[in-house]
Amino acid sequence: MSIEVKEKELSVYESMAARYDVAARKLELDEGLSNYLRTPNREIIVHIPVEMDDGTLRVFDGFRVQHSIARGPCKGGLRYAPNVTLDEIRGLAAEMTWKCAVANIPFGGAKGGVICDPSKLSQGELERITRRYTAEILDYIGPDRDVPAPDMNTNDQTMAWIMDTFSMHMRHTVTGCVTGKPLALGGSLGRREATGRGCMITADEALKRFRWQRENTRVIVQGCGNVGSQAARLMHDAGYKIIGVSDISGGVFNKAGINVLNLLEYVGQHKTLKGFDGGDSIGTQEILEQECDLLLPAATESVITSKNAHKVKAKLLVEGANSPTTPPADDILFERGVFVIPDILANAGGVTVSYFEWVQDRQGYFWTENMVNNRLKDIMVSAFDGVVAYGEKHNVNNRIAAYMLAIDRVAACLKVRGIYA
Ligand code: NAD
Repeated sequence: MSIEVKEKELSVYESMAARYDVAARKLELDEGLSNYLRTPNREIIVHIPVEMDDGTLRVFDGFRVQHSIARGPCKGGLRYAPNVTLDEIRGLAAEMTWKCAVANIPFGGAKGGVICDPSKLSQGELERITRRYTAEILDYIGPDRDVPAPDMNTNDQTMAWIMDTFSMHMRHTVTGCVTGKPLALGGSLGRREATGRGCMITADEALKRFRWQRENTRVIVQGCGNVGSQAARLMHDAGYKIIGVSDISGGVFNKAGINVLNLLEYVGQHKTLKGFDGGDSIGTQEILEQECDLLLPAATESVITSKNAHKVKAKLLVEGANSPTTPPADDILFERGVFVIPDILANAGGVTVSYFEWVQDRQGYFWTENMVNNRLKDIMVSAFDGVVAYGEKHNVNNRIAAYMLAIDRVAACLKVRGIYA
C-alpha cells in the first residue's frame, strides 16, 4: 500500500486490534481462541454521583475494562481526562495484557478512566470522584483480582484514596490493592523513575547491538511529565546527548546539547517548558522531525502517523508513551529501517516496578532501591532479548514480534488451564 492512501489513522483500540490480528495470523492461532483473546473479559461502566464544592450534584461517567486474567490478576492504570472513551480504555486494557506478558510478570491487563477535567476540579471534588468510583467497582478490584495504578492525571494521592476506600470496605488495611502509592503507604522505591529507567535500559541494549556509544547518541524526548523527564534525566546522567525536549506548550532544541538539570529545574518551578532559554524554540510536533539518533516519544498517543513518519530522522525509536505510533506509520518506519522498541516493551518498566510494589506489599518486606533497579534491569534486558530474538526467528518487526511473544504466552496459559483445549 502506498503512503498516499494510508491517510486513515486508527483509534487506540483499532490500532491494538490491527497489530493483534497480524500477530495472531502469523501465529496461526485457532479462530475461536483468537476472537477470545481479542475481546475483553469484562467492561464495567459506572455513573458516579458527586457533590461539587458549590453544593450542586454532578454525575461523572467512569469505566474499568478487564481484558484478561489468564496469567494472573488484572493490572492497569486509571486516567482522568475529558476525552476518555470506552474504546480507548478497551484498547489500553488489551495492551496491558500484552505488556505484562512481554515482561513475563504474572498479571493480566486492565485499564480504567473517568470522564472529567481535573484542571477544573478541586482536590475535594477529585477525592470524592475517586472514592465513589472505587466503591462502584469494589467487587471487581483487589490484590487478587485487579490492581489499579496511576496514569494520565492521576497520581500517588489518587492511589492513596483508592487504597483507603478499599480498606474501609474490607475492614482492614489492604496495601496491595493498588500500586504507585506514596512510600509511607507501601509504595516502592524506584517506582517514580521506573518507566523512564526501563526506556533507557532498552535503549542501552539497542546501542550494544548497533555498537553505538552513549556520548555520540543524540536524543530527542517528546513529553516532560513523569516518563519524559525521568528518561531525559537518567539518560543525561548516563552520558547520552539530549538535544531536544518538548511538552504540550512547545519544545526546545539545541544541537550542542541541553543542560537537562537546568531544564528540569525550570519545569519544576514554572510547570511548563515555555520560556526556557537553553536552546531554540520549536513546535512539539516539529521536534519529532529533527536530525537525531534516538527519538523518545513520551507524551501521548498517535503523534507519529502516516503524515510525518517519513520525516522522522532517528534510526532508533523508543516508545515511552502508549501507542505513540499508528499502524500505518509502523509500515513506513519499517520500510525506512528504523529500529523500533515498541511501547509494550519500552515502557514496561512502570508496570514491572508496580509488580515489585505488589510483591513487597504482600510480603510486608521492602526492598532497597538498588534491589528494585537491578531486578528491573534483569526483566527489561530479558524482555528486550526475547522480543528481538522472536522477531529474528519469525522475520517480523519488533512490534509484531512483541505481540506474537505476548499472545503466545497468554495462549499457552489458557491452554494448560483448560479454558481452551
Ligand atoms: P504526564 O501527564 O506526567 O506527562 C505528559 C507530558 O506530555 C507532559 O509534559 C505534557 O505537557 C506532555 N504532552 C501532553 N500532550 C502533549 C502533546 N500533544 N504534545 C507534546 N507534549 C504533550 O504523563 P506520563 O505519566 O509521563 O505519561 C506519558 C505517556 O506514557 C502516556 O502515554 C502514558 O500512558 C505512558 N506511560 C506512562 C507510564 C508511567 O509510569 N507514568 C507507564 C507506561 C506508559
